[in-house]
Amino acid sequence: MSFYESVRKQMVEEQIIARGIKDKNVIDAMLKVARHKFVPKEYEKYAYTDGPLPIGEGQTISQPYIVALMTEMLELKGEEKVLEIGTGSGYQAAILSLIAKEVYTIEIIPALAKSAQQRLESLGYKNVYVKSGDGFLGWPESAPFDGIIITCAAPRVPEPLIEQLAEGGRLVMPEGDEWQMLVLYKKVNGQLKKTEFIPVRFVPMKGKIQEK
Ligand code: SAH
Repeated sequence: MSFYESVRKQMVEEQIIARGIKDKNVIDAMLKVARHKFVPKEYEKYAYTDGPLPIGEGQTISQPYIVALMTEMLELKGEEKVLEIGTGSGYQAAILSLIAKEVYTIEIIPALAKSAQQRLESLGYKNVYVKSGDGFLGWPESAPFDGIIITCAAPRVPEPLIEQLAEGGRLVMPEGDEWQMLVLYKKVNGQLKKTEFIPVRFVPMKGKIQEK
């Protein structure tokens, strides 16, 4: 086993399984994706530590546990179409791609969208589609989505995403301003039903959501 494989295994045991993540697909994906390939070279050796890391442009790759928890909250079985808002490094999208059928991911900073797209392609993740733009608007051409994951903080669910969530679908997001609550919305009979999880801190969603 290589050095990074062994620290990755340790990360999964100590940060993911020990904290209660049970979904086998999520655990397997966290064991497989080479997180050190998603951070800048100077942070490579910290890739499996228990926290977020800078990825350039003032943005961060989320803590491994939070990635695992949000993925588990989506309850994916393998046939789903998932939309992610906030591609960042592409790490969360890579995890999702191993569990869902197709992953659509939107990043508002063009340079990050471009580097994530190239990274995902060179690492062989074929069922991920990256687009640069404001995720507030979603991806109507490919809707409806069985799962939607927002990886930047917003005070409310962007209205177009409510439309683009399939009946029975799940949406997870950090909801709030400076500090947020990680929440799960489930669409039942066209209405969103909310469950609160844990307090979290994400970078804010930019673009249209901030217009009053
Ligand atoms: N999921 C990422 C981490 C995301 S950090 C990963 O696995 O690495 C949050 C990202 O959301 C940042 O890259 C930020 O630029 C992006 N973002 C902020 N507002 C956005 C918006 N309106 N639409 C799409 N992306 C947005």
